[in-house]
Amino acid sequence: MKNIQKKQVKGLVLRSTGSWYEVRQSKDKIIKARIKGKFRLKGIKTTNPIAVGDWVILELQNDDEALVTEILPRKNYIIRKSVNLSKQAHIIASNIDLAFLLVTVSSPVTSTGFIDRFLVTAEAYHIPVVLVFNKIDLYNEEELEKLNKLEKLYGNIGYKTLRISALNKKGVEEVKELMKGKSSMLSGHSGAGKSTLVNTIDSSLNLKTANVSDAHNKGKHTTTFAEMFELEFGGFIIDTPGIKGFGLVDIDKRELAHYFKEFRALMHECKFNNCQHINEPKCAVLDAAKKGEIALSRYENYLAMWHEDPQENYRELGY
Ligand code: GDP
Ligand code: ZN
Repeated sequence: MKNIQKKQVKGLVLRSTGSWYEVRQSKDKIIKARIKGKFRLKGIKTTNPIAVGDWVILELQNDDEALVTEILPRKNYIIRKSVNLSKQAHIIASNIDLAFLLVTVSSPVTSTGFIDRFLVTAEAYHIPVVLVFNKIDLYNEEELEKLNKLEKLYGNIGYKTLRISALNKKGVEEVKELMKGKSSMLSGHSGAGKSTLVNTIDSSLNLKTANVSDAHNKGKHTTTFAEMFELEFGGFIIDTPGIKGFGLVDIDKRELAHYFKEFRALMHECKFNNCQHINEPKCAVLDAAKKGEIALSRYENYLAMWHEDPQENYRELGY
């Protein structure tokens, strides 16, 4: 009896075009693939079974085509909920090693509210963040002072921070070093310098991030697809057009404090184990905030997030 075993290989999903996926088999081999059968994921209802960033097993049909027979376990993924009530989610991207948040002290101002929201979401998704302070060539003394404070604040919490000028190519080597061999996301306000940085890092790439303006995007249901681009020095950039930060993530109010790293380190010292760190007696977080051991801006942003309806506000911000 003839038993023709089709060749199986591992690949990385770079983009999706409807029912076809572009899967990277090796640096110079990208293959078209379709799904074989149905994939179901435990726990979440998704509109897309396979996401950009997924590692998959391919069964080669011929030189250019393959079938996806298996999705390897995801180490993380970011999702967007559909706007209707179907409770379905769209997986925007998976297996993200690192998220870079471009922060600008001016032109445009990046608020600590914006930074903290991003950091909380990243924590919830288990994605490490590097804070990249961009446009350092532009700042006056007062702005540099602000930058120093922010860098100290977030550095003390344990976040890696960098100073760069994407325009003048200062500090960019360090960004490249961090991106090497990893899948990275680049986020930040529109105008913070994402496209400039990407073009400086790898001039062969020309991401479309700059083309999606906030005004254009707000309140509109835009169909956007994530894509992964391979960096010439090794590694990938995940482009998520139309998404400033991450996809929506449901964070239970009672768990919000866990995603503030420095709160998490203290909360076991609170008197009540269900302490929300709002006005409870003998709250270690509140005490630390009063003593200035926790930055006031962090505590205030925690309160603001705790008091709001996450659904509404995250959507408003384009997350
Ligand atoms: P994006 O919307 O985040 O992609 O931002 P862009 O890369 O389009 O940059 C917005 C504007 O800021 C452009 O005019 C850039 O030239 C400028 N820009 C980006 N990085 C720097 C920088 O390091 N220094 C200065 N002075 N301008 C920058
Ligand atoms: Zn507490």
